[in-house]
Amino acid sequence: MWFNSVAKKKQLLCPCGSELDYELCCGPFIETDQWPATAEQLMRSRYSAYALKQKDYLVATWYSGTCPAELDLYENAHVKWVNLRVVNTEAGAEQDQMGIVEFTAIMKANGRAEKMTERSEFIKQDGRWYYVKAQETP
Ligand SMILES: [Zn+2]
Repeated sequence: MWFNSVAKKKQLLCPCGSELDYELCCGPFIETDQWPATAEQLMRSRYSAYALKQKDYLVATWYSGTCPAELDLYENAHVKWVNLRVVNTEAGAEQDQMGIVEFTAIMKANGRAEKMTERSEFIKQDGRWYYVKAQETP
């Protein structure tokens, strides 16, 4: 089964901060064919994928028009994703075609904490949500 992989080894709470087990939260999206129903679910699962260095999932959920050819997961740096907080969402529900998720993430790079805030754009294509890009801050 899929949960033999990452979760089984770590018995972890989902990195996205939901306080649910990984296998009841973002795990099924990252490790099986299930696809997030909302933009926020996709955003959370992509955060978890960053935390778990699941590059394939990040590429698969990135809108083809904006997906970078090379994805840097900071694999060589000592980066730890510490915390995620979803600040605001606009649209992005099951019946929508577009959505915005604003979030704050805390990461530690080489022992130093950094805070990043982003308004992410999501689009639905063929019934699936994809990450498009970070919106420019006005
Ligand atoms: Zn999660």
